[in-house]
Amino acid sequence: MLYMLQRNALYLLTALVFAFSLNSCGNPETDPAESESNPVLMISVDGLMNEYIERNETPNFDRFISEGVQAEYMIPVFPTKTFPNHWSLATGLYVENHGIISNSFYDYELEARFSYGAPDEQHDSRWWGGEPIWVTAEKQGKTSVNFFWPGSEATFDGLQSTKWVDYDGSIPDSTRIDSIAAWFNPEGEVQADFGTLYFSFVDSQGHRYGPDSPEVDEAVKEMDTLLGYFMEKLDEAGLAEELNIILVSDHGMAKQSEDKVIFIDEIINLDDVDMIDWSPVAMIRPNEVETDQIYNSLKENEENYRVYLKNEMPERFHFSDHYRIPEIIMIADVGYSITNRDNFEDRGVVPGMHGFDNMEPEMFTFFAVNGPAFKENEVAGPVESVNIYELISHLLQIEPAENDGSLDKVRMFLKE
Ligand code: AMP
Ligand code: ZN
Ligand code: ZN
Repeated sequence: MLYMLQRNALYLLTALVFAFSLNSCGNPETDPAESESNPVLMISVDGLMNEYIERNETPNFDRFISEGVQAEYMIPVFPTKTFPNHWSLATGLYVENHGIISNSFYDYELEARFSYGAPDEQHDSRWWGGEPIWVTAEKQGKTSVNFFWPGSEATFDGLQSTKWVDYDGSIPDSTRIDSIAAWFNPEGEVQADFGTLYFSFVDSQGHRYGPDSPEVDEAVKEMDTLLGYFMEKLDEAGLAEELNIILVSDHGMAKQSEDKVIFIDEIINLDDVDMIDWSPVAMIRPNEVETDQIYNSLKENEENYRVYLKNEMPERFHFSDHYRIPEIIMIADVGYSITNRDNFEDRGVVPGMHGFDNMEPEMFTFFAVNGPAFKENEVAGPVESVNIYELISHLLQIEPAENDGSLDKVRMFLKE
C-alpha cells in the first residue's frame, strides 16, 4: 500500500516536473498544448507516374501543382513495391530498418508469411517496425485519421489513429473522400490534425494493361476528376485555405513482356532454396545447400539480372541489415520477370510491373504539395520518400521519432 502511494506520488511529481518544464522552457514548436498547426493530409495515388500527368489532360492536378510545389520526381525505396514504400513514407525508415521487405514474404522467426491480402497480418503489430506518423501525432496530443494506408490497421505501443478503416478495395472512392472531408471538418466531431487517403485503381490498370495503355489514361483522368471533387469538398468545409496536402505515389510502372523472362528453375534447383519472394526481386534462402553454391550458379548465369549476397548489397539500396532479408538477392533488369516454367505456363506475365531497382527512372514517382505552408508555382528537385515523415512532423509541429530522413532535404517545399 505504502509502496503504491510512494509510486503514485512519484508519478505525480514526475508529471508536475514535466508539465513545468514544458510551460517554462518547453520548445513551443514541439509543445502540442501551445502549438497551433494547420492540418495535414497525405494522399496516395498508387502507381502514379509523372508521365501519366504530362500526357493526359488533368486540369485538377495542374491546378494543384501550379498553386503548390511539384518535385521533379520522387525516389522510392527498394524494393519498389506498395507495402515497403507506403511504410517508408509513413515511418521515414528505409526498408532494412522497418522490416516490411515486400508485399508478401516469409519470416523464419515468426514462422509465418506476411501477405498484404491477409487481414490478420494487417492487424498484427509484430510485422510492422518503426512508428508511423499518425501514431507520433496521436502520442503528442494530435488527432489522426486514415481512410486506408498500409499499416494503419495495426497498433503501435497500443496506439492507432482515432479513425481508421479495415482495407476493403470495393469501398467507393467518393466515400473515402467524403469521410476524410468530414473528419477534417473544423465543425465536425473529429477535427483531424493528420490524415491519409489512398486510391489503388491507377496502379491496377497499370498492371493489367501496361503503363502506356489507354486504360491507364482513363484511370488518370478519373483520378483527376476525383481530385477536383475532393477540392470542392474542402471548399465546402472551409478548409481549402487551411489544409496542407501532400499528394504522393509509391512507385512507377514498367512494361513487361513474355519475351523478357528469367527462368530461375533453369539456373538453380528450386528444391535447394526457399523463395521468400519472387519477382522482380527474388529473395532466396538456401536450405540444405551452401549459400555459395547457389550464389555461384546465379552469378555465372548473370544475364538480364544482378545477383548479390545479402552482405554485399550496395549501400544505396539500404537493403541488407534486417533478419528478414535472406542470403541472396536477385534483381531483374527493368521489364524482366523472374519465374519458373510451371508458373509461366499457368499465368504468363502481366503487362505492367514495379518492384525493380529504385534508381531506375521507370520506378520514379509523383510528388507534389499544396497548402498554406508550401511555396507556390515552383518545381523542386527530386526528393527521396524517406524524408516525408520529417516533413509532416515539421508541419504538425511534433517531435519526430527516430528515422532515416532529414528536414533539410524537404525545406525546398516550405515557404519559410
Ligand atoms: P501492388 O500489388 O504492389 O501493386 O499493390 C497494390 C494493391 O495493394 C492494391 O491494388 C490493393 O489491393 C492493395 N492494398 C493497398 N493498401 C492496402 C491495405 N491497406 N491493405 C491491404 N491491401 C492493400
Ligand atoms: Zn503500389
Ligand atoms: Zn502495383
